Amino acid sequence: MPNSTGLVKLDAMENPYRLPEKLAAELGERLAAVALNRYPEPRPTALIEKIKRVMQVPAACELLLGNGSDELISMMSMACAKPGAAVVAPVPGFVMYAMSAQFAGLEFIGVPLNADFTLDVDALIAAIETHNPALVYLAYPNNPTGTLYDDADIECVIAAASNSLVVIDEAYQPFAQQSWLSRAADFDNVVVMRTMSKLGLAGIRLGYLAGKASWTTEFDKVRPPYNVNVLTQVAADFMLDHLDVLDAQAAELRAERTRLEDAIKALPGATVFPSAGNFLLVRVPDAAAVFETLLTSRVLIKNVSKMHPLLANCVRLTVGSAEENAQMIAALKLALH
Ligand SMILES: *Cc1c(COP(=O)(O)O)cnc(C)c1O
Repeated sequence: MPNSTGLVKLDAMENPYRLPEKLAAELGERLAAVALNRYPEPRPTALIEKIKRVMQVPAACELLLGNGSDELISMMSMACAKPGAAVVAPVPGFVMYAMSAQFAGLEFIGVPLNADFTLDVDALIAAIETHNPALVYLAYPNNPTGTLYDDADIECVIAAASNSLVVIDEAYQPFAQQSWLSRAADFDNVVVMRTMSKLGLAGIRLGYLAGKASWTTEFDKVRPPYNVNVLTQVAADFMLDHLDVLDAQAAELRAERTRLEDAIKALPGATVFPSAGNFLLVRVPDAAAVFETLLTSRVLIKNVSKMHPLLANCVRLTVGSAEENAQMIAALKLALH
C-alpha cells in the first residue's frame, strides 16, 4: 500500500467526512468513561439488540459481530475448512474471499463475470455443481465493479446452492439502498453481511452477519473470545443513536457519485460503469499512466487493471468530498488530455 501522507486519498472507499465536532466531543466523553481494565463482553447483547432494531434485522435472524466483516469472512472460512472444502465467488470480486479461503486451506474457485460485470449465472451454477462449495460469496453491490447483481440471478444461485451457504455481502448498502437483509431468514442457505466501515466508521472495525441461528451459532464457535473491543462497542452504540449523521453523509456521497459519473462521462476516452457503491470503475486508454499522472497531482486512486483480465485498463475511484472530486477530475482531465 503506498504511503498516502499529503495525498487526496481516493483508493480505499473511505468516507471523506469526519464526525461533526460536537458529536466527536460527546463520543470522546463516552469513550473516556469506558473501563479499559476490563475485558469486553464476548457477546454484547445490548449492542446486538440495538443493531437488530436500528438496522431492521428480521426477527428470525441472529447476529454475529466481527472485527470488521473481514473477520467474519475469516471465521466462516475457518468454520468450513476441511479437506476438499471449496469457496466459489464471481471474479473480479472482493479479494478477501479468495485470500481468506486460501489462508484456511480451502480451495477458491473464481467464476468470471460477464463482460458487462453481470453474473454469469450458468457458469456459477456449473461451478457450484462441480465443486459443491461450502460457501458462495455474492457482494451486493460488487467491489471493484460496483455492480448490483440482478435479484432474479441471485435467486437462481441460491436455488442451485442448496448444499452451500450463500453469503450476501452488503458492505456498500448505504450507497446501494437495496438489500437482501429483509429476506435473510426466508432461505435456509443465506446469510447477509454488513459493516459500519463504508458508512464512515472504517476505523472502529465492526461488521455483522445476519442469518438463522443454525449458521451464526456454528460460526460463533470459531470467534476469538474478545473479538470486538470495548471502545468499538461503545463507539458503535453511540453512533447507532446518531445514524442520521452518517445517513446524511451517505446521501451526500450518492449525489457526489452522480456528479462524478457525469463529469467522467464528459471526458474523452473514459468509460464509466454504473456503480451502486461509493466508488466508480472507469476504463481508460492506459490505466498505469492515469494512475501515475493522478499521483503526480497528489491524488491517490486504485489501479485495478492487473486484478483480472475483465478489468483491463480499469481504475477504481472512491467518491470523495466535492473538493476532492474536483481535484480528481482536474487531474483526470490532464491525464486524458
Ligand atoms: C470494504 C469491504 C468489506 C470490508 O469491510 P470491513 O468491515 O472493513 O472489514 C467487505 N466486503 C466488501 C465487498 C468490501 O468492499
